[in-house]
Amino acid sequence: MLELSKHRPAPAYPVAVGDVHGCILSDGPLDLGLPEKAFLGETKQHMEQALTSHFLPTDRIVVEQNVLFFSLGNTNVLVETGVGSFRGFGEGAGQLVDNLRAAGIEPARIDAILCSHPHPDHVGGLCKADGQPTFPNASIYLAEHDFAYWTDEALLDSWAAAAIRVARATLLPLRERLIFIQDGEEFLPGVKAHFTPGHTAEHICFEVSSGNDSLFLLGDVAHHAVMSLESPLLNFAADLAPSTAARTRTRVFSTLADERTRVLGYHFPWPGLGHLARQGEGFRLVPDSIRW
Ligand SMILES: [Zn+2]
Repeated sequence: MLELSKHRPAPAYPVAVGDVHGCILSDGPLDLGLPEKAFLGETKQHMEQALTSHFLPTDRIVVEQNVLFFSLGNTNVLVETGVGSFRGFGEGAGQLVDNLRAAGIEPARIDAILCSHPHPDHVGGLCKADGQPTFPNASIYLAEHDFAYWTDEALLDSWAAAAIRVARATLLPLRERLIFIQDGEEFLPGVKAHFTPGHTAEHICFEVSSGNDSLFLLGDVAHHAVMSLESPLLNFAADLAPSTAARTRTRVFSTLADERTRVLGYHFPWPGLGHLARQGEGFRLVPDSIRW
């Protein structure tokens, strides 16, 4: 049998939004552990049923990390950075820089990095293990309150300690290059911020538009293409304000389904592109066909 190398880079998947061109890159799989620890308030039996009906394992929740790269004229933009050197979600994550380079994109060419929120799988890749910036020429766009909260020294002893440590290690060295954005702001041409609170207080969904075309980036409003969509009221363990997160999920998914907006799910099966359709009390992902 043919032996495939375990360390081959994942390919970049091309994506276009109107005149804006880019690709989706993987940071590798993210292991969220036992289903009953990742999603709360659901019976084990019901959760197993949901996972089994989608041919998914019932002993672990493993999701993807689909990082969007695109160019706006001379500005090269990356949305999220993966886990970097953080190993709290298994050994498979942390592949973004290898995959960027394999696609011909040097980290030094990145001008702008958009972060939906300061959790390890989104900002962990901003700095290397030695504290040096991974993307030496990039400005970082995020929300001010989330920055302040997730780098707060006083929370180093809290339940969120691991995430606080990563955010402090990767954001504080880059303090001079952070740009705080507001809800509703078009902070780059055709790129708008939608504050979508619950998972964090100022979690941001980004929307990229060009001409009549647009792409809505779900970030961590949806953690799982089955559990989050089919049961939007189900609590995700890492949601900071669970009932607000559930309300946000329902509102955002409803609007996207009704307006037939194309979405990118950061944690959906690779490459994460598709549409949301209503299904019973919840929603389902209708993935795009893969076209190279
Ligand atoms: Zn995430």
